[in-house]
Amino acid sequence: MENYTIEETERGTIPMTSYKFQEYNTKNVINIGTAGGWTKASTGYTFRNTTKKTKQLLTFLKKEQNLSKFTKPSKFWFYDLFFLDVLAHNEEGPNLFSSLFKKLKFKLFLNFR
Ligand SMILES: Cc1cc2nc3c(=O)[nH]c(=O)nc-3n(C[C@H](O)[C@H](O)[C@H](O)COP(=O)(O)OP(=O)(O)OC[C@H]3O[C@@H](n4cnc5c(N)ncnc54)[C@H](O)[C@@H]3O)c2cc1C
Repeated sequence: MENYTIEETERGTIPMTSYKFQEYNTKNVINIGTAGGWTKASTGYTFRNTTKKTKQLLTFLKKEQNLSKFTKPSKFWFYDLFFLDVLAHNEEGPNLFSSLFKKLKFKLFLNFR
């Protein structure tokens, strides 16, 4: 398959971290997207989380004024923290991701984002 042209290339750095971005939110200001910690730490995906969080934010705003109360750490935040720790402390990262592809059912794998 050689019949293609590269129109654009992308480059960037995805913050794969469980840093507590939400601590920068205040009563009246909330950071959104990557700046708000909406990037999934273990994969770098943000779009899906942003869709989910935006809906949650709308529901939240109907009953609450204080924006610093919006973000609460979830068990998934902890799972990501744990996974990143494993990746950071051994060289099996590529094998770990390959085994996810091999062992998980494809639909379940796609949910990991
Ligand atoms: C190469 C690459 C591929 C990616 N692919 C995917 C993908 O397939 N799916 C996915 O879900 N996510 C992907 N991501 C993650 C991606 O970063 C997010 O999905 C999305 O771009 C985050 O949007 P955002 O608005 O939060 O941040 P950004 O897109 O980074 O936008 C923030 C904007 O704020 C501006 N800014 C920063 N500081 C200031 C300031 N002080 N004052 C004014 N402006 C400021 C920046 O210049 C930037 O324009 C990818 C990231 C990279 C780098």
